[in-house]
This record gives sequence, C-alpha cells and structure tokens, in this order.
Amino acid sequence: MTAGTDEFALINRLAWLLDPPTHGIGIGDDAATWSPTPGTVTVATTDMLVEGIHFRLDWTTPEDLGWKAMAVNLSDIAAMGARPRHALVSIALKPDQAGIVIEIYKGIAAHARASGTFVVGGDTVRTDGPLTINVTLLGEADPALILRRDGARPGDVLAITGTAGGSAAGLALLSGEPTDSDPDRSRRLLAMHHRPSPRLHAGPALASLGARCGIDISDGIASEAGHLARSSNVAIVIDVDAVPFHPDAVAMFGLERARTLGLNGGEDYELLVALPLSLVDRARDAIASETTLTVIGRVVQDQHGGLVTATSGGLPFTLGAGGYVAF
Ligand SMILES: [Mg+2]
Repeated sequence: MTAGTDEFALINRLAWLLDPPTHGIGIGDDAATWSPTPGTVTVATTDMLVEGIHFRLDWTTPEDLGWKAMAVNLSDIAAMGARPRHALVSIALKPDQAGIVIEIYKGIAAHARASGTFVVGGDTVRTDGPLTINVTLLGEADPALILRRDGARPGDVLAITGTAGGSAAGLALLSGEPTDSDPDRSRRLLAMHHRPSPRLHAGPALASLGARCGIDISDGIASEAGHLARSSNVAIVIDVDAVPFHPDAVAMFGLERARTLGLNGGEDYELLVALPLSLVDRARDAIASETTLTVIGRVVQDQHGGLVTATSGGLPFTLGAGGYVAF
C-alpha cells in the first residue's frame, strides 16, 4: 500500500516517540536489520488485540493499551526464559484515530524502553473496522536454557511468581461487579489490569538456574496448569491454600471470589513454573529483586497426562470452568 502524505507525517511522528536501535537498521528503511548475539537462538511471538474483543476504549486509555500490547508479548518471551530485543508493531485504525495512535505509541515506547526492546518497524493502515494492534516480539535465549511447556517431571513442584487474581479483579471492577469501595485498592487493581509487569528478569533467571518448564499466566492458573500437564504428560495437584491471591482482590471481593479470579480469571502475566524442589530457595533469591516465588502445587505421574486437580484444607477443591482438564 502506498503511503499518502498524511501517513508519512504520522509515521514520522510515531518514529520520533521511539528510541532508535543502538545497532543495525531500524525504522525508515524497507526492512530492519540486526546481528543476533552469538550462541543464542531467536525466540519469536506475536499477539493481536482487537477493539471490542480484547479491549474497550471506554475502559482503557490508549497509552495503557500500548503498554499492554507490549506486555502480552513480552510475557510470552519471558515465559520461554528469553530476553526481548526487537519489536514490530502494526496498527489498523479509522481515519479519525490519528490522535489515539500517537497515545498508543507513547505506551508502546514506554514499555519498550523499560524492557530494553527496540521497535524497529511495523505498519499503520486505515480500516473501517475495529482498532487493531499487532505486536511481533523477537527475543533471544541460550538454546540450552529454554523454559518449555513439556518440561515438567513427576516430583517437581509447581510455583508461581507474584500474586494471582489482581488483573481479573481490576476487570471485575471495570465490569461494575459490586464490591466495597476503596479508592486505593481499586487504583492498584486497575493498574494490575491496565499496566501488567511481565517477569522479564524472572524468566531467564529461572531458566539459568535449571528450571526447564514454564508458561505465562494469560488465562488463569487452572488453565495454564492444564497446558503444562498435557504437554508434559503428567498430572498436577494445586494446593489452593498456598496460592498467593492478590491481597486487594481478597479484601475487596472476599477470599472465595478472589480464588475464582486468580484460578480461572487471567491476564496476570506472572509465570507458572515446574522445577525440582531443591532449586526453589535459590530460585527465590535469584528473582527477589523483581518478584516473589511461591510453591502452590506438585507434579505427579499420570497414566494419561493432563489431569489438574486441587485441594483446600486437605479436601478436594473444584477448580471451576476451564480449570478441570481430563483426558
Ligand atoms: Mg503464553
């Protein structure tokens, strides 16, 4: 598609918001170039956010939307034990949305800077449809130190970084779910939803320590544990009493609802890892500057693979919709 004068002006304004790469060719040529770090593999992921499906412009600021579009991809890179390097960003917008796209790019630029990622290209096109943002993230990792979904072994423990349910609690607030009003708690939960912090340090740090299995929590603990169990051909038992549910979610919605938000909600962008118990103390120390690590379950042998069950107070606990996966 040939860019009109207006589009060139817009692209120039967007490029001006971004830091130019310190190496290779970035925005402004036909394509971008860079040199991979010797001995690393490239790790690639892409994620598309569509207005009305993944976000509502009356619930989020465009700047937060840009931050989150980066976050969902950065989290997948971290979940592989990789480090982000470059991003390509494409946005489809209506003719009257030029102002919004600049605000979105401010959020993208902020998260790129905070994560050491360079935006080196992309596309901006007009549409009559919903606002759509696609980010492709390219990272790198030591090929021997990748966190995979199929790396869980019977005897491993299941551990989670940070807390669970904060983002889903923020979404519940936006949806108008009744709760005790508390402006400070509300503000923190909304920030969890709008400005998630992917575990960019924890992912590679856990991989370097010898963890081999991880996934990021985009769909809730129960569902992600199901992915690990199926891919690794094991069963997972979650101790619900050990899960660190977000304290503001518990305070505002009560423990029972906070449990559902954390186990079956989503978008926390924490990491769920399976690792030998003997690594847990060192793993905790290695990621302490960024977040916490809490053991919430164990990996056991399973004849068929893929079973996720839970207990609370020593009794079976129903994980709810999407959480119980049996084959
Ligand atoms: Mg993921």
